[in-house]
Amino acid sequence: MKIEELLRPNVRKMIPYSSARDEFSGVGMVQLDANENPFDTGLNRYPDPYQRQLKKEIARYKGGRMQNLVLGNGSDELIDLAIRAFCVPAVDEIIGVKPSYGMYKVSCELNDVAYREIPLDEDFSLNADRLLREVTAKTKLIFICSPNNPSGNVFEDAAIEKLLNGFTGIVVLDEAYIDFTAKESWSKRLNEYPQLIVLQTFSKAIGLAATRLGMAWCSEQMVEIFNRIKPPYNINQLTEFEAMKRIQDADQIAEDIQSIIEQREWLIQELEKSGVVEKVYPSDANFILVKVNDANSLYGQLLQKNLVVRNRTTQYNCENCLRISVGTKEENKELIETIKKLENEESTIY
Ligand SMILES: *Cc1c(COP(=O)(O)O)cnc(C)c1O
Repeated sequence: MKIEELLRPNVRKMIPYSSARDEFSGVGMVQLDANENPFDTGLNRYPDPYQRQLKKEIARYKGGRMQNLVLGNGSDELIDLAIRAFCVPAVDEIIGVKPSYGMYKVSCELNDVAYREIPLDEDFSLNADRLLREVTAKTKLIFICSPNNPSGNVFEDAAIEKLLNGFTGIVVLDEAYIDFTAKESWSKRLNEYPQLIVLQTFSKAIGLAATRLGMAWCSEQMVEIFNRIKPPYNINQLTEFEAMKRIQDADQIAEDIQSIIEQREWLIQELEKSGVVEKVYPSDANFILVKVNDANSLYGQLLQKNLVVRNRTTQYNCENCLRISVGTKEENKELIETIKKLENEESTIY
């Protein structure tokens, strides 16, 4: 597949901005090339535009190759860059599924690229044939999120494989929640699919949402395209420091993930016993989608007790659904006890 031919024409022709740190890494030299302040503050020099040291450590932590990695100011930046690399505004279009992560649509709207959302099946599974039928000559990208937000389920490998084999454009697979499932990441299969972009993030399992660090795993051809169009210093030095520090302690991250998974299973059990709950959807993520008898009412009542969950009732096929993030043991207990109390109050009223 010729990814170059799928590019937006202006991007294909584009000569990237060559930053001072692009031309010379600066290490061990007298650096008078970037108009930096020469006095050492610990942060007076521009960071590496390709974040080589951080990528090396991420590659080791995740078990991938640093040559297949692009870093973004959150995955949200990588979503935007993927759209801008391949889609001509007001001409091309993107296909996604519903319900799913809201940022794809926002980013499309900002870039004036039409976004068509195809429904998932009733049980939130991915029907590749249904998506492939919607593809037109203008469809440049497909966005898929697995495990999916807000439904929480991971999509079947066979369905994703069918999509990759049947679509001649770019597939962006958002794996923000992959660490909460036993399923292997699609980033291990980049050799088979040069048109695949796998997004991961430091915001969920790794616990660094505030640093804003997203990862795109993709073919080296694709890495070159991202590097051509990204802002030169998109990852700041403080983020790099904190990210490297955090992944030094892989055991701690693994322990935190394990605790979240155990708490998720406990929460599911407890929620299933509740009288206000109609259905608890299976979850491969760090949140649970729950159908209740009256989502707006329960949402408001929880809020009054200082508990914030996400009301998803207006989302496609999510009527009366709340999305609940798995918290600490204490937080989860508080949630369950509050729901029980509300339930008792209700039964005494009627
Ligand atoms: C939370 C989330 C992200 C994370 O985005 P960042 O910009 O990396 O914080 C990405 N995709 C999905 C589906 C999410 O739910």
